[in-house]
Amino acid sequence: MTRLFLSDLHLADPDSSVFRTFATLLAEHSTRVEEIYLLGDLCEVWVGDDDDGPLAQALIEVLAQAARQARVFVMRGNRDFLFGERFEAETGACLIADPHLLDADTLLAHGDAFCIDDEQYQSVRKMLRSPAWQQDVLARSLAERRALAESMRQQSAATNANKAENIMDVSLPEVARVVAEHGCRRLIHGHTHRPGIHPAPWGRRYVLGAWERCGWAIDEDDAGSLSLRCLPLQG
Ligand code: MN
Repeated sequence: MTRLFLSDLHLADPDSSVFRTFATLLAEHSTRVEEIYLLGDLCEVWVGDDDDGPLAQALIEVLAQAARQARVFVMRGNRDFLFGERFEAETGACLIADPHLLDADTLLAHGDAFCIDDEQYQSVRKMLRSPAWQQDVLARSLAERRALAESMRQQSAATNANKAENIMDVSLPEVARVVAEHGCRRLIHGHTHRPGIHPAPWGRRYVLGAWERCGWAIDEDDAGSLSLRCLPLQG
């Protein structure tokens, strides 16, 4: 099976080089690979499937185009946890749980659930993922949700600025625990913005990078080998 894995694009502006590079990559790969996995934080923020802004519209178009050629799977991250059924219907992409067992060997995750040393983050995560909180937010107007997202983003940037670097990385014992639970030898995740391939006693951890100075992708070939690459941003 040939696959493409991406995460942490943090798309915000359809006219940005990140968006253009992503659109080109998807258009090229959707005709070459069987499955495309977007492992969270595809968008900087997603305020609900009724979002009528330029980014939401452009993103739906790009994903729908790709989903006509290849199977596209989307995992929610800590930015775009409000992707829902309408997003699935309009894009043809399929939402998957976090973590998601890809096959007997390989587990996929966004990555933030492994960062258990950051207790403050985990309590916020729990709130954001609770159905009651999400329903309450989705009942508000688009304008209110956009204002809420902006204030949450500022607050998170301010809190993270005062945190030790290592606290925001994954906890290796927690990774080992979850991987053992699923009996896997490979894990692919993003979120930490620390791209790399890390050998572990149980196997190998593949970490996708955030799309900042370059883009990041993991390719799986027909033999099942995974490779991590960075790609230049257009323009
Ligand atoms: Mn994230």
